[in-house]
Amino acid sequence: MNKRTFIRFFAGILASPVVAPLFAWGAYKDKPKNWAGNLQYSTDRLYSANSVEQVQAFVKKQSKLKVLGSRHCFNNIADSAHNLLSLKSMDGIVALNAEERTVTVDAGMTYGQLCPLLHNKGFALHNLASLPHISIAGACTTATHGSGEKNGNLSTAVSALEIVTATGDVLNVTRKRDGKEFRGAVVGLGALGVITKVTLDIQPTFLMRQYVYENLPLAAVKDHFDAIEASGYSVSLFTDWQKQRINEVWIKSRDDAGQTFNSSPEFFGAKRAAKNLHPIAELSAENCTEQMGVSGPWFERLPHFRMGFTPSAGKELQSEYFVPRKHGVEAILAIERLRDQVSPHLLISEIRTIAADDLWMSPCYQQPSVTIHFTWKQDWPAVRSLLPVIEKELAPFQARPHWGKLFTMSPEVLRSRYTRLPDFIELSSKYDPQGKFHNAFLTRNLFTS
Ligand SMILES: Cc1cc2nc3c(=O)[nH]c(=O)nc-3n(C[C@H](O)[C@H](O)[C@H](O)COP(=O)(O)OP(=O)(O)OC[C@H]3O[C@@H](n4cnc5c(N)ncnc54)[C@H](O)[C@@H]3O)c2cc1C
Repeated sequence: MNKRTFIRFFAGILASPVVAPLFAWGAYKDKPKNWAGNLQYSTDRLYSANSVEQVQAFVKKQSKLKVLGSRHCFNNIADSAHNLLSLKSMDGIVALNAEERTVTVDAGMTYGQLCPLLHNKGFALHNLASLPHISIAGACTTATHGSGEKNGNLSTAVSALEIVTATGDVLNVTRKRDGKEFRGAVVGLGALGVITKVTLDIQPTFLMRQYVYENLPLAAVKDHFDAIEASGYSVSLFTDWQKQRINEVWIKSRDDAGQTFNSSPEFFGAKRAAKNLHPIAELSAENCTEQMGVSGPWFERLPHFRMGFTPSAGKELQSEYFVPRKHGVEAILAIERLRDQVSPHLLISEIRTIAADDLWMSPCYQQPSVTIHFTWKQDWPAVRSLLPVIEKELAPFQARPHWGKLFTMSPEVLRSRYTRLPDFIELSSKYDPQGKFHNAFLTRNLFTS
């Protein structure tokens, strides 16, 4: 604990005999960094709350703050120049309602913590991202997604939120009761307040198998994209854009009757892998979830990466763009034409499909989507000059960027593609009239007209 942190820690205890103190978060000697290490947050004023009451007291006291989730965003959406609040220690299940099929969790909980508990009680979530390490609140507020043409992103499982708004009041927003306001609040981009509880839809637990195929000809994507995407509950195509092929196809299939994938040695010209693979074939598959058609619980198959291991590559950057499903193949081919510019800076790309939703700030708002994701080498100057080239190529498809990844689109372009932004701004000024939860990212991208 450094001197400044030490002072905040004890000042908190001494000054707050009634309201429990907000303990300074001593894990960092200096300003903390995000997971990838490409971003140093702008303050070392880090606090942690253990209860909703502590959150309320803290919010009332501060004029500016942001909540830090599990720090997996690559851009400065979570950054604050003033105060960062962590809910990491608020990480339990609050209620599991088997009849209504919902689970309510504290906002600091990660999917990795929740999923095994849920499975042991006989329940599952509809989908997961590539990694379970992320906080549920952070993931849902940024519209984090997995894959599967019939699966909405992770935010679509949210049926209620408890939010501490700028005044320190606790607000409950539910899908059942608050229709319009709820649809605005779920993908809240951290702009509406501190989410303290999240209620998610659940379903009976299920088993899955994962199959990987290598070297799918690009021509097969062109001619059979719909059939490829329909082959499993969740399908991911990994490519380095070289040699006119998709390096790996990951098919995640539910064991439930009627939904199983019939694995044959060949899949649209791709060959079934003979061992577990990492999406970047040169890397060890040790940190990846089990493949080779071995049956296992949903939460050990839906993510690509296992809890307890480093997901993805580690030292990397990420960008991702959502295009309407109807333009998916055209968009893929457009990026393929950029292969010689893209490949030198790329670790791997991933192509996924997602169902449409009705959440205002979701990139899948009213549009079934294909996402084209880039895991970059950690060379921001190179990536920064390449992103406008990619964004220009995807402009005819009205591509929307992932809120938690790196993009260079102008605020004007964002505004034209997120058509409910004016409604969202109105909602956020109701919850946070003074912009207590605004930061440089939100001000630039959303709140400057
Ligand atoms: C290796 C890796 C793999 C990834 N894979 C995927 C993937 O498969 N699919 C995908 O869509 N994305 C993926 N992502 C991106 C990631 O899921 C999102 O960036 C997500 O937001 C991370 O959640 P977090 O809690 O770490 O967010 P943070 O970066 O900590 O915060 C994100 C935002 O959420 C806000 N926030 C967090 N908690 C709260 C709260 N309690 N109340 C209010 N606001 C809050 C923050 O203020 C900030 O605005 C990946 C990222 C990494 C590093």
